Amino acid sequence: MKHTVRFAPSPTGNIHIGNVRPALMNWLVALKTGGTFILRYDDTDLERSRTEYAEAIAADLKWLGITPHRIEKQSDRFGLYDTVAERLKKMGRLYPCYETPEELDRRRKRLRARGLPPVYDRSALDLSDEQIAAFESEGRSAHWRFKLEIENINWHDHIRGDIEIDLGSVSDPVLIRADGTYLYTLPSVVDDIDMGISMVIRGEDHVTNTAVQIQIFNLLSGKSPEFAHHNLLTSMTGEGLSKRLGSLSIQSLREKGYEGISVATFAVLVGTSEAIAPSGDLEELAKIFELTKVSKSPAKFDETELLSLNTRQVHQMTYVSACAHLENHIAAELSEELWVAVRGNLEKFSDIHVWLKIVNEGPDEIDLESSDREFVIQAAEYLPSAPWDANTWKTWTNTLKEKTGRKGKSLFMPLRLALTGKSHGPELAALLPVIGLDKTRALLS
Ligand code: GLU
Repeated sequence: MKHTVRFAPSPTGNIHIGNVRPALMNWLVALKTGGTFILRYDDTDLERSRTEYAEAIAADLKWLGITPHRIEKQSDRFGLYDTVAERLKKMGRLYPCYETPEELDRRRKRLRARGLPPVYDRSALDLSDEQIAAFESEGRSAHWRFKLEIENINWHDHIRGDIEIDLGSVSDPVLIRADGTYLYTLPSVVDDIDMGISMVIRGEDHVTNTAVQIQIFNLLSGKSPEFAHHNLLTSMTGEGLSKRLGSLSIQSLREKGYEGISVATFAVLVGTSEAIAPSGDLEELAKIFELTKVSKSPAKFDETELLSLNTRQVHQMTYVSACAHLENHIAAELSEELWVAVRGNLEKFSDIHVWLKIVNEGPDEIDLESSDREFVIQAAEYLPSAPWDANTWKTWTNTLKEKTGRKGKSLFMPLRLALTGKSHGPELAALLPVIGLDKTRALLS
């Protein structure tokens, strides 16, 4: 079945690695089923929502490989919510309340003190017309609650299995604030119906909302979408990742030099029964991803695991893809030979610049001990003649062994230092033909 799915972020901050998990899971389900992915900004909170954040979210998704089929924002759709709210009022399912937050707080505390669940007591339903008129004349405006029908709501969750929630333990949700603005619950259902959303994939923090929303879905449209609630990503010590946790924002992971595909792969596979391994692109990831593989326990974020995945990802990156990562004039300096020689030594793709500089402009000057300096000068005399290939290093070092008596580290380390300025790096057998005879000779002199 082709699924129509949506990712519905509030554009009130930058999104982090935890927030993109529902985006990616929804995208993969759309890919798998040939369906449609809608990016829907939940921006009914006009005060906290910002266009800059909405744009940053779209840019982050693009970097991860997600290109929504459709983009909507709730702030364009208030008329529709007003119509539905009127309908609910007429049905007697949306009722005005005048309690202040302090009053509600006192009542909750009293209930808790008696060991009872802090569920709203519906006293606003008993207000007489005179009492309502009196509140209004005091200048108070109503906030509006949805009158829940007390029932058990059941659904088969694609991740969490069979779920049953007793709505008797849930307060009638406030759908409209006293200032007339909408909270999340109603616009989300109205849009899911209007946009034909067939599956909702979101974090498990929404499980209770789902029970409430299923009742509203049934009331308004006679049916509800399918649901999947994924585990949440926590820090290694189990704390939630807050939206303001800058270092894990997608933007900062991008700036740290991670690959979009590594971050996407990690975000999707962490906390599932699938091993975290590199994938070529999101289409490939879609083939292995299944909602049923997502675990019910929290997923832990360990940056060393992300780095390790990223490193493996870079090691298998093709030359074409490496060039696509670079500006044209820099890509022109990267030969396929050089890429293949060095990619296995890169941790992050940006490390390629270090090797481009070493090979194209020459290494930093290095101070060799005088005996090593003499050896290096002598080594230049035995350089094999061109053309060079993968065997040149072996031919050369065999000759050097014979002529100088050096072997092992004392043979190759002075050469490595002279040619690269570094004590670690790619196999010299692969690098030597890339550097070439003339440059090698010059570096040894
Ligand atoms: N704006 C909500 C959130 O970010 C959307 C939840 C949903 O997918 O319905 O949590």
